[in-house]
Amino acid sequence: RSGRSAALRARMEERLLGARFRYLNQQLYTGTSRDAARLFRADPAAFHLYHRGFERQVRRWPERPVQRIVSYLRRRPASLVVADFGCGDCTLAASVKNQVHCFDLVPLSPRVTVCDMAKVPLAAESVDVAVFCLALMGTNLQEILGEANRVLKLGGTLMVAEVASRFEDTRAFLRAMAQLGFRTVSKDLSSSYFYVLEFAKTGPARPGPAPGLRLRPCLYKRR
Ligand code: SAH
Repeated sequence: RSGRSAALRARMEERLLGARFRYLNQQLYTGTSRDAARLFRADPAAFHLYHRGFERQVRRWPERPVQRIVSYLRRRPASLVVADFGCGDCTLAASVKNQVHCFDLVPLSPRVTVCDMAKVPLAAESVDVAVFCLALMGTNLQEILGEANRVLKLGGTLMVAEVASRFEDTRAFLRAMAQLGFRTVSKDLSSSYFYVLEFAKTGPARPGPAPGLRLRPCLYKRR
């Protein structure tokens, strides 16, 4: 009997965690990056819960997007300086020889510099590669990508790995990216789970709204 009730209890806890994860996840995708920073500053436990949920989701996928970014960097010189926006557990930094600046809201690893990705403590034009791996979460995408543009050297690389179903209109998205100063170098749409997009910085963003810069929130189904 006690075995059965323990199992029941575990199942209930799982469901509760799942529900909280989905709720936090929804908040991250429907507010600005500043809202996210405030949320996790107020409740660091929520952050750890979010990460457990994130891990569980991504483990279901046949391949982790961050591994694609790792392979990409290994094909390029290790002297390139990298900035990882929304680094999570710093898998990227741990997997390459490059100097990697790791930014996230709460430190899952001692390598992390805690900050809002819309305002990172790096000098202008100081990095060769900026990475957003499943990290374009806030609704202030233009501001976030503007920050990546600021810290990137001219001709530097922007790598974006994002959930495929978030793109409503990929062409409009890429046009908006061009307006933000990012030329599309390659797009890998081969995975049905996520896209990997490579851009080169052509210059500063052209001013004005970029209406095509829209991504759907990534909302997970209840299981
Ligand atoms: N890039 C990692 C983690 C992806 S999960 C990987 O691929 O495994 C998305 C990460 O973005 C989370 O760790 C989350 O805390 C972070 N994040 C979300 N909003 C952020 C913000 N405003 N500033 C910094 N990090 C943010």
